Amino acid sequence: MKSPAFEYARAASIEEVCALLSQHGDAAKVIAGGQSLVPMMAFRLLRPSWLIDINEIAALKFVAFETDTVRMGACTRQCVIERDGALASKVPLLRQALAFVGHVQTRNRGTAGGSLVHADPSAELPLVAQVLEARLVLRAASGRRALPAAAFFAGPMMTSLRTDECLEEIHCPVWRERRIGSAFTEISRRHGDFAIVAAAAQIAVDDDGHCTRATFGVGGASPTPIAFPGLARHLVGHRVDQAKARAVAQDAAAALEPDSDIHASAAYRRHLATVLMTRVLQQAYDAARTVQ
Ligand SMILES: Cc1cc2nc3c(=O)[nH]c(=O)nc-3n(C[C@H](O)[C@H](O)[C@H](O)COP(=O)(O)OP(=O)(O)OC[C@H]3O[C@@H](n4cnc5c(N)ncnc54)[C@H](O)[C@@H]3O)c2cc1C
Repeated sequence: MKSPAFEYARAASIEEVCALLSQHGDAAKVIAGGQSLVPMMAFRLLRPSWLIDINEIAALKFVAFETDTVRMGACTRQCVIERDGALASKVPLLRQALAFVGHVQTRNRGTAGGSLVHADPSAELPLVAQVLEARLVLRAASGRRALPAAAFFAGPMMTSLRTDECLEEIHCPVWRERRIGSAFTEISRRHGDFAIVAAAAQIAVDDDGHCTRATFGVGGASPTPIAFPGLARHLVGHRVDQAKARAVAQDAAAALEPDSDIHASAAYRRHLATVLMTRVLQQAYDAARTVQ
């Protein structure tokens, strides 16, 4: 099918995007890489009357390092983030996760912000945003606000973005500890498909191999990807062997309420969540221990 007819505006600035959004409200959609929006329009799942193209706005395409944060413009392409070596050394989970996002071709067009706003519960970047406790800067004609990822994701394909707002920047914390390891994994039917279940973890250890800081989470097993900061704190002060990782992962999986669908039953998703969270916790810990 083809999408219904729409008006098109190529915005030259963020101010113009915000003005158009406040003028057209929920009749308008921002288009970034188009990798999710265009198929949804072709299937007529979405019928915006206006498309506001943000691809020409240089101020939305950047990666900038600050002391404890990496800032990324919302329209930064996934391939740019994936290939940025300095970014991979400061926030390795981004590159690890992007290796699972679609295909080279989709990452060449798809943007970080588009993936977050699309908010697929199985998508990799929303999971990373949850696990790293990223902050999302939203911009409207009336001003800016910043939301933690946990407050941004509201449900399957739903966010707290108002119809007059666009996503402007993504801020990822940079851990200052010397020994840090992270890991991302997922199960999907074919490489490049959305995950059935995905898991991510990041762990810091001291010179004796005791965990000093940890975060982990799972996607595809609840209405939004979810992190478990309370359970992660149980790892602090311990060496993360398989038994320890599995105990924490089991507690996390017990808190999930996965759905059954054509891809997997709820019980299988919960099983995968336990297995994959155990795996990433151990891999992240082992990676942290090998840092010199
Ligand atoms: C074959 C194929 C395989 C794929 N596999 C995966 C996969 O395995 N994992 C995965 O996560 N994704 C996958 N995708 C989707 C891909 O990652 C998309 O790039 C991503 O979901 C959307 O990014 P985009 O820049 O293309 O956004 P678009 O499609 O342009 O927009 C998506 C949504 O976000 C909104 N939006 C975009 N940018 C902004 C902004 N700055 N402010 C406000 N709203 C905004 C749009 O209005 C729209 O609602 C796949 C896509 C294809 C075609």
